Amino acid sequence: MTSNGVSHNPHDATALSMPTYPSNCLEFAKPFLAPETKVSEGVEKAKVPLNILLVGAGLGGLSTAIALTQSGHTVTVFEQTPVLGEVGAGIQVPSNSTKILFKLGLKPYLKPYVTEPESISFRRWQTGNVIGNTKLVPDFTNNFDAPYYVIHRAHFHSALCQKVQDMGIEIKLGARVENYDPVAGSITLADGTTFTGDLVIAADGIKSVARKIVLGGEDMAFRKPGFAAYRATVDVERMRNDPEVSWLLERPALNIWYDKDKIHILRLHLIMDFYDRIGDARHVMTYTIGAGKAFNMVLSHPDATDPSTWDPTKAVDDMKAEFDGWDPVLTKIIGMVEKTLKWPLISGSVLDKWVSDKLVILGDAAHAMLPYMSQGAAMAVEDGLALSRALSKIQNTEQLGKCLSIFEQVRMQRAGQMQEASLLNSQLWHFADGPLQEARDAAMVPEVKGLPFSHSPNQWSDPATQMWCYGYDTEGAIDEAWESSRLNNVQL
Ligand SMILES: Cc1cc2nc3c(=O)[nH]c(=O)nc-3n(C[C@H](O)[C@H](O)[C@H](O)COP(=O)(O)OP(=O)(O)OC[C@H]3O[C@@H](n4cnc5c(N)ncnc54)[C@H](O)[C@@H]3O)c2cc1C
Repeated sequence: MTSNGVSHNPHDATALSMPTYPSNCLEFAKPFLAPETKVSEGVEKAKVPLNILLVGAGLGGLSTAIALTQSGHTVTVFEQTPVLGEVGAGIQVPSNSTKILFKLGLKPYLKPYVTEPESISFRRWQTGNVIGNTKLVPDFTNNFDAPYYVIHRAHFHSALCQKVQDMGIEIKLGARVENYDPVAGSITLADGTTFTGDLVIAADGIKSVARKIVLGGEDMAFRKPGFAAYRATVDVERMRNDPEVSWLLERPALNIWYDKDKIHILRLHLIMDFYDRIGDARHVMTYTIGAGKAFNMVLSHPDATDPSTWDPTKAVDDMKAEFDGWDPVLTKIIGMVEKTLKWPLISGSVLDKWVSDKLVILGDAAHAMLPYMSQGAAMAVEDGLALSRALSKIQNTEQLGKCLSIFEQVRMQRAGQMQEASLLNSQLWHFADGPLQEARDAAMVPEVKGLPFSHSPNQWSDPATQMWCYGYDTEGAIDEAWESSRLNNVQL
């Protein structure tokens, strides 16, 4: 040890301490410091098994139920719908999410349904020239220990349901929760039945009833950036028969086409096809799902009108009119769409509270975001593991409050920053043609040419954003906050 406290033993990895500043310079040494850092199955066991009531059987609620049950808690899920299911089309499952899902033992449940895109390419619409590119295979698996998938929502949801069933977790269907008593830890259903637990978790989605109670009666103001999205799928067999569009199916890829004033479209190729037209606030993302059987489209466009005024019978025609004049390849595929659903795109405000006594909210209830980072459900999956990790640390139920507060602090920061990143993409993708757009495109040239780069407006590629987004250590963040609260002598 030298006078500055730094060990000079050239063989001692444990003498290395992780920098307090954002840095990845010690990534190489992780296997020496913690040989088990590769993804391991299973979560830490709880020392104090709790009786937990969980409201909402969406992607967030079910993944949380699985994490908590694996940890040793008894979880009962209350879902308002009489039949389990998910509406909508495809969903991206980024590496930070698959890493956790694999840990929870979901790999065999998901595997038959997923597609793994090879890369994401942004292209100019007139020329098809690639202007941005993120390599996913093998880079994301190598760098983040887990693949980047796309899947049909219904398959994702049914994989979680199957796992829940195999684990013997009870789901009460047709059980709409109308009221919460955070102090008692109880919920009251529409039929008046009351259930009491040690902890109540509300994963009840963007229209959460629980959120209002956590916030003390006043719900948060949503941020409505004025976008809506059509979601649709096209049978790939129809596309295969048309040489003008069949090239999109040759490789699993994600395409995003950006466009401004009907002038520019960028195509983003991945293992999903992601077309994104930005500039006049529209873009289209496409990718194949259902193990390559369906071509998924998310068509984002400006619409600030009240969703209650939308006429679903006109949705297909409205969608076609909305994207009239776009790249002929895209409009040809849009022309094959037989039905579509239109969704308002809303971002929740960053809340200052997720917990009230024994009631905690998570998932979209706590942090709804624009889908422009493809991270909404991924954040809910992280929430579930983070909560399970925090609860595994308590030695007695007296420590529950502090545990929830650490969970809240860690997750509010992470999800709040993801809301921010998603909102930033709504700007980055929608520049009007001109110097800013040209500078954005120029900044992506190195990644397209395979040259080294230190920054990119493509948030899938930007090295700092990429490491933060996909390399996040959900359990490590809870451990760190727990340790720091212990060192600060916070009573636990
Ligand atoms: C167009 C679009 C594209 C997206 N793409 C992606 C993507 O690529 N990747 C990604 O990670 N995320 C994506 N998202 C976000 C993702 O869909 C959501 O973040 C995620 O589904 C939220 O899950 P949740 O379980 O929190 O909420 P929900 O899915 O809303 O589930 C809430 C559940 O609670 C139930 N419930 C509600 N109230 C009650 C009550 N009072 N009593 C009982 N039950 C109740 C509901 O019936 C429902 O089952 C996208 C979103 C949109 C709109």
